[in-house]
Amino acid sequence: MTLVVQKFGGTSVADSERIRAVAEHVARTKREGTEVVVVVSAMGKSTDDLIRLAGEVSSAPPPREYDMLVSVGERVSASLLCMALADFDVPAASFTGSQAGIITTTEHTRARIIEIRGDRLREALSQGKVPVVAGFQGMSTDREVTTLGRGASDTTAVALAAALGASLCEIYTDVTGVFSADPRVVPTARRLPRISFDEMLEMSATGGRVLMLRSVEFARRHRVKLHVRSSFTWEPGTVVTEEEPDMEQAVVTAVTHDTSEAKVTVSGVLDRPGVAGRLFRALADRSINVDMIVQNISSHGTTDISFTLPRVDLSTAVDVCGGLAGELGASGVSSDDTIGRVSVVGAGMKSHPGVTASMFETLAAEDINIEMISTSTIRISCVVAEEDVERAVRALHSAFGLEEPTR
Ligand code: ADP
Ligand code: ASP
Ligand code: MG
Repeated sequence: MTLVVQKFGGTSVADSERIRAVAEHVARTKREGTEVVVVVSAMGKSTDDLIRLAGEVSSAPPPREYDMLVSVGERVSASLLCMALADFDVPAASFTGSQAGIITTTEHTRARIIEIRGDRLREALSQGKVPVVAGFQGMSTDREVTTLGRGASDTTAVALAAALGASLCEIYTDVTGVFSADPRVVPTARRLPRISFDEMLEMSATGGRVLMLRSVEFARRHRVKLHVRSSFTWEPGTVVTEEEPDMEQAVVTAVTHDTSEAKVTVSGVLDRPGVAGRLFRALADRSINVDMIVQNISSHGTTDISFTLPRVDLSTAVDVCGGLAGELGASGVSSDDTIGRVSVVGAGMKSHPGVTASMFETLAAEDINIEMISTSTIRISCVVAEEDVERAVRALHSAFGLEEPTR
């Protein structure tokens, strides 16, 4: 029998009515002769609510306790969905990440999956049950409850699909697929029927939060076919797959944006070997993921280094840089948490010169100043002021003709 993993995000299980709609869909899939493993996120915004509570009782919640707390949200929706499935005469059993055998590294709040021992899920399947797994969590090699980072139920779903040999991993969400831009920002954005892993990776890495980046990396590595679709209309969505030779390569496929980053500038550091290594090693030691880096040309033996990083890590990064200022000869450390990033992504860019120029001209025509630039073979990103981000996305989406239905 074919096996499919179906993952339902927060809005898809936001209330009892939605949970019953999801149960009905799972029951329908099973009736049609497909075996199903379900992965659920916490209901609606309940993870945010739990994180807020943690912040109300503690200025720095201990990471172990944070994971014990936030992993609860998924457990609620998993058990409720099993109850609803019972009502549709579908035998089901809920599992925490730990019960499902999802073994992770020990870094609380951002653990990585090392191994999946799926015997209990296989056993449930062999008994004709639908296993419903609480997303976003696992058990570390130290036997502690861990969580895998915000949005990581996607990763749980893909990892289970790979471990159980599922033919497909369906990601059900509140939009009908992957769009040429966030439909909340660009109402004329179009659904992409298919997208390559390479493009999806770039989109997820630059703010297209419909799929968590790590889930796309995992899916590509383990050749898991993904289908992103709506749990409201159930219509076919976007298939993320290996690039096929005949896949038409649009020059630009999508425009993404991200307003979750901040910028730090360390001014007047000594321009000599080892300085950048010292600075970025110290940041890495605090688990800070630096994104774009720009170093100015040297003047009188000193230079400025700017970099972007997640806003949540800003105060730690400023402390780290401040602590090193003396050693690096820096004259100052400044930061800006009102930046945003806009990116254009497209596999066809490799063979079409001029996309960078068009992007810069479009931003210039909108009088939007570019603060930093970075590129890959199929992506160009610009850092701009946060207040300009949405205008930039709409202008770029239109300039690259992404709303045209004939594309
Ligand atoms: P879920 O709770 O189902 O995991 P998310 O909120 O994580 O859902 O992801 C879905 C959201 O991603 C959509 O509501 C949409 O606003 C946003 N999004 C951002 N960029 C895109 C894009 N290019 N295509 C589709 N959705 C996007
Ligand atoms: N509930 C978790 C979060 O809000 C995981 C997920 O939704 O994927 O981040
Ligand atoms: Mg999500």
